[in-house]
Amino acid sequence: MDFDLFVMGGGSGGVRAARIAAQHGARVALAEASALGGTCVNLGCVPKKLFAYAADMSTEFAAAPGFGWAVTKCPAFDWPTLRDNKDAEIARLNGLYRKGLESAGVQIVKGFARFAGPHAIEVGGKTHTAQNIIIATGGYPRRLGIPGGEHAKTSDDMFHLDVLPQTALILGGGYIAVEFAHILSGLGVKVDLMYRRSLFLRGFDDDIRSALAEEMAQQGITLHFGRNITEISKTSDAYRVLDTQGDERDYGVVLAAIGRDAALDIGLENAGLSVNAKRMLDVDDHYRTPQKHIFAVGDISSRYALTPVAIREGHAVADFLFAPGNPTPSVNYENLATAVFSAPPIGTAGLTEEQARAQGLDIAIYKTRFRPMKNTLSGAPERTLMKLIVDRATDRVVGIHMLGADAPEMLQCLAVALTAGATKGDFDRTMAVHPTAAEEWVTLRTSA
Ligand code: NDP
Repeated sequence: MDFDLFVMGGGSGGVRAARIAAQHGARVALAEASALGGTCVNLGCVPKKLFAYAADMSTEFAAAPGFGWAVTKCPAFDWPTLRDNKDAEIARLNGLYRKGLESAGVQIVKGFARFAGPHAIEVGGKTHTAQNIIIATGGYPRRLGIPGGEHAKTSDDMFHLDVLPQTALILGGGYIAVEFAHILSGLGVKVDLMYRRSLFLRGFDDDIRSALAEEMAQQGITLHFGRNITEISKTSDAYRVLDTQGDERDYGVVLAAIGRDAALDIGLENAGLSVNAKRMLDVDDHYRTPQKHIFAVGDISSRYALTPVAIREGHAVADFLFAPGNPTPSVNYENLATAVFSAPPIGTAGLTEEQARAQGLDIAIYKTRFRPMKNTLSGAPERTLMKLIVDRATDRVVGIHMLGADAPEMLQCLAVALTAGATKGDFDRTMAVHPTAAEEWVTLRTSA
């Protein structure tokens, strides 16, 4: 065999697996057809967050006069500057990923990898053999399958627009839809968001979902719930959208943020593998596919299409294969914390109120909704929502949800408390840090 391990895909999971395996002394190759870092670095988390910072600045300009700052010149936004500065930062990160792999001794193979056999991978006409293989090929945005669906952009396209449109329709009600609604609206685009059911962010806590809908409406984002697009056509200067209610509207851009599909067009049949009903790969608790030497990590196999999950899974497989003692993978999916970079952002960990009730828990709900201190002088109407869900039987906090400034940062820390099994009593005896919004977490006394 040419290698001890061949990793297909240089995204979050693949890069981590390759680097750790090489550091354990394995002979490792990694194939990637485009830029290293995968979706997260190139077309996801990183550029999205940079754009979200830019969008947030519009709120800061609006808040400044209340604090005595005369914004004497109307701030003007230049899209190409943001887009190109973002590209430069991503190129720097691509370089860091390359350096990290090379200094660990990983051989990077440029090109698209396909199985040529159970132990053979073909890249650019050359076949490589490996004892073990990790599939970490990630996913790509789903396309809209309606007449004129080809006119809709995907999140991939949005990072490289030539011109920022004046109006946009975003279709979908998941992470990407609400995050791009924030980005585009913050950058001055008139945004409509259309979602096929009654309230977006299905699976998140209901209070958070409805509070975000209120905040977005207040920001001037038009929410069309209970509708879907049936057709898109191109006029001389716009995209004309027909919806299920028979309404027609024109937009500068239509973004379809309707989910992602696993990138598994990699000759699986040559390795004796096939996709499951969800068009993903089934793995056991060691991330092994039915071919025990072929592993799968990240978006192609996980229940959670999240970067930190892919990283942990890739690391666990590398350790299992090559670390002394072959430690059994033990990735903790419990109380998974996640953030949505909407405006305001969401941070959440553990059970939603609906999930806790469905599990039959007798729960106490502690929640508060308030205008953060900064918005008193700024005059901004945005309000924060914080919610704790407590299991009465054990006093354990089983869910933490927040919509408000710094929610993602707070939730990362609170997730530790959740993992450690903190009780409401632990929260109560923790001294407050004043004046902060976070002190509310330890001063919530009355259950709703
Ligand atoms: P999601 O799966 O989160 O949401 C897809 C949305 O599109 C849902 O609201 C779904 O509706 C709707 N939808 C699906 N098919 C159609 C259709 N044919 N017509 C109209 N609407 C449709 O996908 P995203 O694309 O938003 O994001 C993909 C994944 O990427 C996320 O699930 C998340 O794991 C990850 N991600 C994480 C981020 C973070 O951590 N901050 C940021 C961005 C992405 P319904 O509810 O009815 O199914």
